[in-house]
Amino acid sequence: MSKTFFGHPRGLATLFFTEMWERFSFYGMRAILILFMTTETAQQGLDLDTTTAGAAYGLYTAAVYLLSLPGGWIADNVIGQRKAIWYGGILIMIGHAILAIPAGPGVFFFGLAFVAVGTGFLKPNISSIVGSLYEDEGQREGEDMGARRDAGFSIFYMAINLGSFFGQIFVPLLANYNWHMGFGLAAVGMFLGLIYFRMTEEESFGKIGLAPEKQQLVSSVEETSGSSVMKYIIPSTLILVLIVLQVTGRVDLTSIVGIAEAMKYVIVLVAVTYFAYVLIAGNLTSTEFKKVLVIVMLFIGGATFWSGFEQAGSALNLFARDFTDRNIFGWDMPAGILQSVNSGFIIIFAPIIGAMWVWLAKKNLNPRTPIKFGLGLILLGLGFYFMVMAAQVATEGARAGMFFLVLTYFFHSIGELFLSPVGLSSITKLSPKRYLGQMMGLWFVATSLGNLIAGTFGGNFDPSNVQQMPDLFWTFVLLPVGVGLIFIATNPVVKKWMGDIH
Ligand code: GLN
Repeated sequence: MSKTFFGHPRGLATLFFTEMWERFSFYGMRAILILFMTTETAQQGLDLDTTTAGAAYGLYTAAVYLLSLPGGWIADNVIGQRKAIWYGGILIMIGHAILAIPAGPGVFFFGLAFVAVGTGFLKPNISSIVGSLYEDEGQREGEDMGARRDAGFSIFYMAINLGSFFGQIFVPLLANYNWHMGFGLAAVGMFLGLIYFRMTEEESFGKIGLAPEKQQLVSSVEETSGSSVMKYIIPSTLILVLIVLQVTGRVDLTSIVGIAEAMKYVIVLVAVTYFAYVLIAGNLTSTEFKKVLVIVMLFIGGATFWSGFEQAGSALNLFARDFTDRNIFGWDMPAGILQSVNSGFIIIFAPIIGAMWVWLAKKNLNPRTPIKFGLGLILLGLGFYFMVMAAQVATEGARAGMFFLVLTYFFHSIGELFLSPVGLSSITKLSPKRYLGQMMGLWFVATSLGNLIAGTFGGNFDPSNVQQMPDLFWTFVLLPVGVGLIFIATNPVVKKWMGDIH
């Protein structure tokens, strides 16, 4: 076997194929999730009402990203990235295998919990080990190691989207015959990823990603105990808030919909308390203080973006099934397959947008991060404008053409390329070193919050609600465009806060 992978460390190949199969299973299953939950039992579905299914979908996808916080922590401090990837993958595979059992909602949600916990272990750690591959490399003549690492991440992003693309085609195709065969295929995908990981792990990683030494463990536990206030203040405030929400009747914690509502308050509260804590008691210099304020802004921008973008798997998936004409030369394409359009656009446009930034940078015209965020949000809003039009067709009782969804996904994908990679790298640059892990964690929390909002919002899209659909989608034209314009308008001030960071 060759020692390099397209000129990159051999380990990148292992991460590439493992992540590719993991995303195949994750997005393949996600493409049919809400459809399965809202299909009648006569057609082997769970027959949940749309609101409950949307809430369950939102809670599941939010949990996936939220669980990456403990998943990352346990790997860093206890078991190392390699074991976290391996055991996470096994949990994911078991989860999909459970989903493949034709049983009721209880067994189904049990399987989803396995996938969520497993992904929480696998996803953050497989991403951070990509960076570790480049740490031990000596500087080679004339080579910029930062650029090499960025190139490594771009190749990795291709793996994500290749896996998603094919998962979102083959799983819905099989699920069209039998839902549980679809879920089973997701389990097979993860199984292939695990085999590849096991076979190549030793030669790929050497000492990278092993469990930390005892010495390191002690010091990291000491470091984290510095935030012990957080350990008590956050949990007790949360419990208090949950009691108040329940007692005042604001949410009903005995239903899935109520839990999803409460979860929004919980996530927002954790983020607000955490940021306030770092800003007030984090011993920040005035430069660091301003940079953390920028991270707060990126958090708000990220959460807004994902709350629209992640409707792909909820509202837009339901719209594809119930209100879209999916007929291609007499073949009725399964709705879930339209989910693959985003990954397809990312595979095509990631290199083009990447090259565009480099080209603009050479002319000193590369837009600053807040501008890219602003434009990403505006693109998201523009994308939803096509959904407003599609929903208008549906209110007239006709089925909308597929091109509406394809155009929406086109704008959303370009928006993703403006905002998502830039968000990740800006956080690593803006965060004070000692808070880096936690700030990265908060970026995932923004994704989690976005997913939760997207899921519960998707709960509005049942066929009895057709007349309101254009207005519902309008919200997601106005909200991101509004937030995007704020990003652009405040750029002159924010760029000063960012100091030397672009
Ligand atoms: N599609 C990307 C992935 O799966 C990003 C998803 C997200 O951050 N919401 O990694």
